[in-house]
Amino acid sequence: MADNKKDNNDNKNFFNDNPLLAFAIFSIVVILLFKVFIGEPNGGGFNQMMGQSMGVSMTKKVSYSEVKKLVEKGVIKKVKITPTTIEALGEEGDKKIRFIAEKIPASDPGFIKMLDKKGVEYSGVMGNGFVSEMISMLLPIFIFFAIWIFLAKRMSKGMGGGILGVGKAGKLINSEKPNTKFDDVAGVDEAKDEVKEIVDFLKYPERYIALGAKIPKGVLLVGPPGTGKTLLAKAVAGEASVPFFSVSGSSFIEMFVGVGASRVRDLFEQAKKESPSIIFIDEIDAIGKSRTSGGPMGGNDEREQTLNQLLAEMDGFGTDTPVIVLAATNRPEVLDPALLRAGRFDRQVLVDKPDYEGRLAILKIHSKDVKLSKEVNLEEIAKATAGLAGADLANIINEAALLAGRQNKKEIEQSDLMEAIERAFVGLEKKNRKINDLEKRIVSYHESGHALMAELTEGATRVTKVSIIPRGLGALGYTLHLPDEENRFLKQKHELMAEIDVLLGGRASEEIFIGDISTGAGNDLQRATDIIKDMITKYGMSDVAGLMVLEKNSGGAFLNGGQTIKDYSEKTAEAIDVAVKSLLDERYKFVKETLSEYGEAIHKMAGVLLDVEVIEGCKVREIIEEFEKEHNKPSRLAHNDKPDVQKCAIKEDSNTEDTDKRDGE
Ligand code: ADP
Ligand code: ZN
Repeated sequence: MADNKKDNNDNKNFFNDNPLLAFAIFSIVVILLFKVFIGEPNGGGFNQMMGQSMGVSMTKKVSYSEVKKLVEKGVIKKVKITPTTIEALGEEGDKKIRFIAEKIPASDPGFIKMLDKKGVEYSGVMGNGFVSEMISMLLPIFIFFAIWIFLAKRMSKGMGGGILGVGKAGKLINSEKPNTKFDDVAGVDEAKDEVKEIVDFLKYPERYIALGAKIPKGVLLVGPPGTGKTLLAKAVAGEASVPFFSVSGSSFIEMFVGVGASRVRDLFEQAKKESPSIIFIDEIDAIGKSRTSGGPMGGNDEREQTLNQLLAEMDGFGTDTPVIVLAATNRPEVLDPALLRAGRFDRQVLVDKPDYEGRLAILKIHSKDVKLSKEVNLEEIAKATAGLAGADLANIINEAALLAGRQNKKEIEQSDLMEAIERAFVGLEKKNRKINDLEKRIVSYHESGHALMAELTEGATRVTKVSIIPRGLGALGYTLHLPDEENRFLKQKHELMAEIDVLLGGRASEEIFIGDISTGAGNDLQRATDIIKDMITKYGMSDVAGLMVLEKNSGGAFLNGGQTIKDYSEKTAEAIDVAVKSLLDERYKFVKETLSEYGEAIHKMAGVLLDVEVIEGCKVREIIEEFEKEHNKPSRLAHNDKPDVQKCAIKEDSNTEDTDKRDGE
């Protein structure tokens, strides 16, 4: 009993949460009822019954006037009148024929008289007509109300003002006076310097206005997610102690037509009223997408209206109004060029991922709020987190605090931070994901192939850890490498080649030692192919094109996300394909030779992996060294000039990933 009641409640909630679905279901029910009561207009159930009972042999469509003529001639014996049709049964010789005519809209009392005169049996179908008329009258009204209610709900969710609140911006515009200061932002010093002068504009607008200086209107903060763009914008407002109005571009596109534009209007109205002030538009690409590169779906209209309103507002206030619009995006290349024109977002500030010093500074900021043990070495953490953004670092500290808390520790220890880093990099261990024994064997050999090539190849990065425990992101196994800080921005050709060899190691190992190849290497091969293509077309590192650069990034002049412009002929394209394939083939052959030569070492490595699932880099090196000694080979270990920071017994540094299925970054 109680269960039933609960079910009902659930249903109610379900429909409340899904008004569109509820509406759709209701409509279907109504339409079905409609069909059942009315039948199909011609040849439906009623007609068939009538026909069958009389042994009708054919049906003819005729005009109303013809029916009358047929009645006059005495052919018709029986008539049924529905609101829309007249069905007449007649006899021609011994054939029974059914005539169907559309009824004329005007009433025709003469017809009934004529039927009476000729003694034709007639009847009308009123009930059905009534229902159908009622439904056809009520359905549009019902649909109208359903849409109204649906709209009203959407609005009130967003606006807090019911349907009449359209245009009142309400809650979606956040207004605050942040306490954030520049000291809370670290690792983005150049960006900080660039926005510092804005603070002065906001603090002393009169000075600049008196001098006739034009206060900048819009600044675009460009950078990957979590690098502190929002934080920086808040810090500008905090330093100048002015109000901070913020919206997110993506919240506009969920709105109904016209709402986005009116919200933009309200946003500027409020900001101007409380000027000097800051407007912050997060994810501006959601509304500012180039009008030509619009998505395939609807909603474009809304975006365009919103964008136009934004442009109009920015043009609308003079350079003497101390309102500054800060906007953030990680995809500057998709922005409509109109947004970047003079007087709009004509300043762009890069907010990039922090380097070592920056990471250390960010870690220090965020560890102020937690209890760290004295033995914690933040330098080591900063070293181990190359490639992460500020938000990731903040998360790592928090995650470490949670880990320590779970173990009932009084302070966060280095091991908690290291564990948190590992989680940040490769996602939580998914021990519950079962892979079968064959898969395990394949992954072991695959990863051993990567690891061996990484250790034997000059210019590759040494292995930190090899694992066949499936992690998030669809990776069945992974080989961790420790990146060199100095090498983050420039790569030499031999390093790119080394990367290719390491990538091919997985596939080659499967082919040699498993005797078959799997889909697991797809991502590796894709990456290897991409590297070779870039070497040829972008970096001038091949004979095919020499120094000629064949592809360049278009759109945003910053970051590397732009679309590529291919600046070469069909013939060159073919030559590139041939060159890519031949280089891939050449490297693959070399990698296979190397793996075959070190076959015993691979077997050993894969065996240990199957056993313990995770091995450290030093173990990999140990296995290779042992093998070389046993066979009196000169050592090919490529990284022995660098001290082995890992001692096998001690828990190792874990570091940046080389998971087998990580797209992007
Ligand atoms: P974005 O807007 O670039 O996506 P956010 O400013 O929202 O990034 O960053 C989210 C959080 O991450 C911040 O509130 C802050 O706690 C932390 N954070 C990110 N970048 C930095 C940084 N450069 N310095 C200090 N903390 C940062
Ligand atoms: Zn791989």
